[in-house]
Parts: sequence; C-alpha cells; structure tokens
Amino acid sequence: MEQINCYVCEKEALSKNEIGLTKKLIDKNSKRFYCLDCLAEDLEVDTEFLLAKVEEFKEQGCTLF
Ligand SMILES: [Zn+2]
Repeated sequence: MEQINCYVCEKEALSKNEIGLTKKLIDKNSKRFYCLDCLAEDLEVDTEFLLAKVEEFKEQGCTLF
C-alpha cells in the first residue's frame, strides 16, 4: 500500500486509523490526510476523543478501521 504522509506536519506513514479518521471526520474523498495530532488540532478536540471515536467506528463495523 502507498505510504501516506500528514498534510500538515508531514509525519510519515500514517496509520490506518489516522487515514480512516480523516475520511470519517473530514471528507470521505479527501486527498489530504492528517495524523492524530493535526486532526485533533483541526477539529479542536483532543486525541483521546479521536481514539474513542476509532473504537466507536470499529464497533459499528466500519471497514475503514
Ligand atoms: Zn500531522
């Protein structure tokens, strides 16, 4: 799979969770992906909230995670 870097801080090789969160919370068709820290900053939430969201989406059976 192609390596994706954070659009903001250029952190390399984003995890599946980070990519999934960008798709879920920003734009399903987004071409720009964010690492957990940058996503939290952009959405004005903390990373704990995002990690809780990942678990929530997983429980819903979301295939992005
Ligand atoms: Zn970043």
